[in-house]
This record gives sequence, C-alpha cells and structure tokens, in this order.
Amino acid sequence: MKREYIIEPCTATSFFVKKGGNVIVEDMNGGQVADFFAEAAENGDEFLSTGVTIDVNRSIKLKKGDVIYSDRYRPMFTLVADDVGAHDILHPSCRREMYDFFYNDGAGHPTCLDNIDHAMKKRHPEIRPVNLFMNTEIAADGSVKVLAPKSLPGDRVVLRAEMDAFVGISACSVHESACNDGECSSIKVYVED
Ligand SMILES: [Zn+2]
Repeated sequence: MKREYIIEPCTATSFFVKKGGNVIVEDMNGGQVADFFAEAAENGDEFLSTGVTIDVNRSIKLKKGDVIYSDRYRPMFTLVADDVGAHDILHPSCRREMYDFFYNDGAGHPTCLDNIDHAMKKRHPEIRPVNLFMNTEIAADGSVKVLAPKSLPGDRVVLRAEMDAFVGISACSVHESACNDGECSSIKVYVED
C-alpha cells in the first residue's frame, strides 16, 4: 500500500510500516531536519536506539547501507538510498528545556519531542532519533558543531523496514540556529509496503 504524508513546519506525523516496506523521507525545500523515530509495532517498549546503532556500526555517522538498530540489538531499518550523506545520530530531539537552556524561549515553543509524542500518542522521557539531514560536524578532538543541512530541495533518503514498525517523524522546529538553515519548512514522506 502506498501512502503520502506532508509534515507541515514544526509538526509531526506517525504511521505503521510493514517489514520489507520502504519509508522515503523528502526534504521538500532543502535545509530541513527530520527527526526519525520508531518503535517495534508489536512491542512499544522496543525502540529505535542511536546508541546501539553506533555500537553495532562502530561509527558515529550514518551512511548508505547502514542498519539502524533497536535497543534490543535487532535491525529496524536499513538506509538503502541517500541523496545527502550527512545525518546526525548524536543529538536528542529538541524539547522545551533545550530551548530554555540555549535561547530562553521554551514557553509555547513547538518541539520535536512534544510533536512526536502527540503523533504517537505516547509520552517519552527522551527521544534520541536519527536526525535525517542534520549536518553535524565532528572534529578530531570530539567537539561537535551543527551546520546548515546539505540537503537541497527534493533530496531524499530511503529507509527499508527490517521489522514491522510504528514510526514518528517530525519536521524540526529549531529556527534559532543553523540546524534548519534558519527557517523551518516541510517534510514529505512516502510509505510503500
Ligand atoms: Zn527538533
């Protein structure tokens, strides 16, 4: 079955995808980060883990062909196509306290944590997603710097589901830094399963 979702700026959506299906995430206007999170469809206690993904892939970067794992060390998705080649698996989803900490503007601010929680109808203490299109520069000394995404309008990634999954994706709401190139825009998602 084919489905399409437009994620308006600073919002999120959720959907189920079957094992073997593809989730295609498109940066419609370029320069926009999409937080990609998932849980096992049959067991909401099993969730996408960037920590396990780093552990198994022995890398703090994600590249084409890499597998994204659950906290139970089971494959959840494979990155089978990638127009951009720069994504982040280090940062947690933005949340009110983050906006207060850095910008003193958390009150009423849309956040990826709240938006994904609302879309998935569940409270998570923290979400550590795959931040698609987020361009984090990692220096040899371990310091990190968030730069503007390299994604251009229409750039896509294709994630093949390796298990039945419940997915939450947000169009990140940070406009205060280079994270979304200073302006929050829309994300398009195609699901084919
Ligand atoms: Zn965000």
